[in-house]
Amino acid sequence: MNITGAVLDQVGRARPFAGSLPLTVSELELDAPGPGELLVQIEAAGVCHSDLSVVDASRVRPMPMLLGHEAAGIIVALGAGSGGGGRAKLAVGDRVVMTFLPRCGACAGCATGGRLPCEVGSAANIAGTLVGGGRRLSRNGEPVNHHLGVSAFATHAVVNRTSVVRVDPDVPADVAAMLGCAVLTGGGAVLNAGHPGLGETVIVVGLGGVGIAALLTAIAAGHPVVGVDSIPEKLERAIALGASEAFTPEELAESGVSASVVVEAAGNARAFETAVNATAPGGTTVTVGLPSPTAMASISPLGLVAQARTIVGSYLGSAVPSRDIPRYVELWRAGRLPVEALISSRITIDRINSAMDELADGRAIRQLIEF
Ligand SMILES: [Zn+2]
Ligand SMILES: [Zn+2]
Repeated sequence: MNITGAVLDQVGRARPFAGSLPLTVSELELDAPGPGELLVQIEAAGVCHSDLSVVDASRVRPMPMLLGHEAAGIIVALGAGSGGGGRAKLAVGDRVVMTFLPRCGACAGCATGGRLPCEVGSAANIAGTLVGGGRRLSRNGEPVNHHLGVSAFATHAVVNRTSVVRVDPDVPADVAAMLGCAVLTGGGAVLNAGHPGLGETVIVVGLGGVGIAALLTAIAAGHPVVGVDSIPEKLERAIALGASEAFTPEELAESGVSASVVVEAAGNARAFETAVNATAPGGTTVTVGLPSPTAMASISPLGLVAQARTIVGSYLGSAVPSRDIPRYVELWRAGRLPVEALISSRITIDRINSAMDELADGRAIRQLIEF
């Protein structure tokens, strides 16, 4: 079938992207879903830093690529054997959350309860293919790569069933989309990797989509939260969302405030240093941001030893999407996790290049593309 989607042909174009137009919205061909695959009509897709990281060349991916990995949609067709197969039942008409790390459920990574990513899924993501191998996307007969098994900046996507989690119809598409990346990652950094003790304060460094999701999840779990960011508007937003205090990194250092769990969600080395320095004796620094591969941080090994502190790297919030998404849905349904608060604007797909500028400038939390 023919679909419309936003394809990146070349990385590293100059800013502003609204001028250099790295992404082209055009018609593509999408193959029918193969065995174990689904055709999903995309309802909503979030613009995430991991999309920008491909555009600005800090993550190397095969080109051309149809970007977008945080999304929700409705199943419109099932490939052979995609409805059950020992997993939760899926049917045409179901709303699904796309998740950017497929879980095969059978490899050594999948046996770690979320600590390590799926080996099969990671290999497919690096290759730009689906878990079952190959590409279902093409443009003028030339193959187009999938972004993290999802490629959701499009009217439709074919995905492996291990890339989705079904949600009940009362979960609206905008909320469902945010669950697949921002909430899974930020929430998991707190709950799966940080494990704060009952009522303990959590500090969140970096208040973009993942950081705000970490903040909301920590508050939902009953923890006082301190927000840290260098942009004053983001500090105001953190307070409005229930943070007990909010600081710039400099103010945090001067204040001497520390916590037993500190989540770094900014994806840069200075933020990581800030997070390590704000971790209390015996505490844990969880780093969940994705800095450039060449970024290096400076920390005191003696500080770690003398204060018996731990640093934990958490990829995708150490998540098992099929286990974790229902937990976030329950918190949202109980009115304790206002996922909607992550959405800073709603746009159409033709605004995708300027949306990348908004994100790069740190102005946006989550810009949601609605189809
Ligand atoms: Zn993302
Ligand atoms: Zn696996």
